[in-house]
Amino acid sequence: MLTKEHILSLLEEVKDPEIPVLSLVDLGVITDVEITEDNHVTVNMTPTFAGCPAMDYMKKDVERTLEKHGINHHTVRMSFDKPWDSNKISDKGRQHLKEFELAPPPKYNMVLDLDILEYATCPNCNSTNTTLRTPFGPTLCRAMHYCNDCKQMFEQFKPL
Ligand SMILES: [Zn+2]
Repeated sequence: MLTKEHILSLLEEVKDPEIPVLSLVDLGVITDVEITEDNHVTVNMTPTFAGCPAMDYMKKDVERTLEKHGINHHTVRMSFDKPWDSNKISDKGRQHLKEFELAPPPKYNMVLDLDILEYATCPNCNSTNTTLRTPFGPTLCRAMHYCNDCKQMFEQFKPL
């Protein structure tokens, strides 16, 4: 008998192609798992940034991982019903981002204002005395900040 928890634990293996420490489950792009009585598994995913071209790759990776574990009756569905935002990154995911030296996005109250975009916690020294240098880092999903305490540039997973 398959359970949702079991499927989610298998999907922990699927990592964000750009951030190999972050699973799609922790990223919050797996929005739902449904299992019918005859063990057909449906995984619902929501795309993250329009600027992150990895969604097709992630979808195939989810399919491959299910098949690797003997789950051949599956549907992986991309759905825009529940739009992704960076608040959906789990606490475990935020911790992994920090270990990857990528500042996690601040949690916010569904209103993205300039304060939120400028706010970052330095992954090196945990200082919040930081300055936004450019809202676009090496990829559209990342911003560059400068830490005024340890005098280092660091990347942040942008709030969205
Ligand atoms: Zn610092």
